[in-house]
Amino acid sequence: MTNPEGIRIHPAVDHGVKPGTPSFSGGVLCCHCAADPVKVRIGAQTSHNHVCGCSKCWKPDGAIFSHVAVVSRNAVEILQNGDRLEIVDGNAAIQRYRCCGCGVHMFGRIENKDHPFYGLDFVHTELSDAEGWSAPEFAAYVSSVIECGVDPSRMDGIRSRLRELGLEPYDVLSPALMDAIATHAAKRSGALPA
Ligand SMILES: [Zn+2]
Ligand SMILES: [Zn+2]
Repeated sequence: MTNPEGIRIHPAVDHGVKPGTPSFSGGVLCCHCAADPVKVRIGAQTSHNHVCGCSKCWKPDGAIFSHVAVVSRNAVEILQNGDRLEIVDGNAAIQRYRCCGCGVHMFGRIENKDHPFYGLDFVHTELSDAEGWSAPEFAAYVSSVIECGVDPSRMDGIRSRLRELGLEPYDVLSPALMDAIATHAAKRSGALPA
């Protein structure tokens, strides 16, 4: 693949997107603490995996994007050292739980039952060494990388690189997810039958 500017989207996709395994059923996420890490079991395959350019998602050093997927909150279980988890911003729609030692986000949870994505947790499957997690499908909040300090002049190159990797760039979420949010709102307002 061509990538003359050496754009580092995220280590999980920089050498090409690896397909997921349909029969895959989960794994254990570990934070980056060298000794006695926080561990969280994800007991299911993830979905809607994508790279995200927003300023809230956790990103590894040097990456322009985070790599994030969703899974049922019922499939998320803290295995050890849960007492080291702290909520990054209790006022945010997604409450991201990070390790207070290394800063890695272990999962993000929505507590508002009226939120369109209530019931889904956000997880970074790169924290697991298991193979077969669902593959990233698109790039979300691409323009927001500028808010994280990326020079606007680099955006054409970043969008080209995302397309080359098969990760269609969107400045909010993908059309499927935006439609799901709008459908949720329409059912609540009565514009569509509930
Ligand atoms: Zn840690
Ligand atoms: Zn994000």
